Amino acid sequence: MTPRRITETKPGDWTYVSEGGATIVFSYRGPYNVQFSGHVLRLRKVVHRSSDASNNKLLNTNTEQPDDSMIAFQENIISKLVPSEFLPSLDVVLLDEEWLRSFVELHDGDRPAERRQTDQIDVHRKKGVLATDLIGGTQIAMEIKPKWGFLPLECHLSPETVALKRVTCRFCMHTCFRVKQGDVCTTYCPLDLFSRDESRVRKALRALWAGWYESGGSLNNLRFFVSGRMAKPDDDDSMKILAHFFSEDESTDTENLQESFASSLMQALVDSPVLLLLSTLQRTLDILDVEGLSKLYTQSSPDLPGDGLGSSIPDPSMEEWEDFVRVYTSDYHSWDHAAPSPGHLRHYLMAYLLSATFKDCSIIIRPRLQIPSTTQVGPARSFDTTIIDMDMKSMDRLGKWEKLDRRIAEHYKNSGNQRRCIDST
Ligand SMILES: [Zn+2]
Repeated sequence: MTPRRITETKPGDWTYVSEGGATIVFSYRGPYNVQFSGHVLRLRKVVHRSSDASNNKLLNTNTEQPDDSMIAFQENIISKLVPSEFLPSLDVVLLDEEWLRSFVELHDGDRPAERRQTDQIDVHRKKGVLATDLIGGTQIAMEIKPKWGFLPLECHLSPETVALKRVTCRFCMHTCFRVKQGDVCTTYCPLDLFSRDESRVRKALRALWAGWYESGGSLNNLRFFVSGRMAKPDDDDSMKILAHFFSEDESTDTENLQESFASSLMQALVDSPVLLLLSTLQRTLDILDVEGLSKLYTQSSPDLPGDGLGSSIPDPSMEEWEDFVRVYTSDYHSWDHAAPSPGHLRHYLMAYLLSATFKDCSIIIRPRLQIPSTTQVGPARSFDTTIIDMDMKSMDRLGKWEKLDRRIAEHYKNSGNQRRCIDST
């Protein structure tokens, strides 16, 4: 199929949806077009202060288009581990610099002010991603970023961290660390959400709601989209629509809403295989913890420069990823992970990168289209769940993650907290 061209649409055909650290998403709202209707456009961003340097770099590396490999990564690697019913469709769209400049002029004002100060749409990109629009075409859609759904095994942890890491999950320790830096606190624990225990899943959903409400919608673990636009708790119209959707009495009292939200979604999450799949992938791929991985790296590569885990390791090619998935779905589970073989170092490094992809993804939950039934009473519904944002991670992140892990654990130890997170698997 010939690639779609963004110039077949007008900048005004698109509406701002949301953005993360590296990408920004717009939804197609123009006249019906078989190629674009029902799709979102995902564009890359660049940081302002490095724009001169990165412009030069990008001009020199226009042949290298990470969005292509992102699509290939989902098609060739992720799809072997996640059933297609839980994945959005992804396609390349050819961009155009002049079109992107008018697009930025038109839409930059729709972005949050704090984001606009930091970065901008990268107008030098030649390709973007068109994905299934999971938040449009429905009145309500929710995005949950569940994060790390397991506790690490004891055998690779150091005497300094074992007592912490076996009791408190990584997300709860990280929250404590972030609050110190000025972030909003949340009582959400991923292990509750992943537990498949009705009362714990409900507790996790209540905590996600509270974090969303108290942070004014700025915490990224829960987002609501009303008629295709991100909703904030101070927006009365959106709150009324959420209340109408979740509860029978349509009260916008926040405690009632929190309760009806938790009740509506609890069963859907307990019944869906998606969270169990994610935590199983995270747990089995991050089998050594970053501490065990680091030890194996030092043992296996004593001659490599000691400037951080994975620093001298080239990123895997797509063929190597394909080979990794073959190993992961066969021999990997019979390896002695308590005494990892130095010969398997590269596979363990890749496993860790892939676990990071599954720790960092989001799920979109939207009501399933149903034939109206006269027997349906109340707001109970069934939902469809799709996993999004499964980007390929790079080896040069490993060193940063190792340092961050150490800082988070040290900070948590000194904080004197000891939250008990229960890993039910
Ligand atoms: Zn926890």
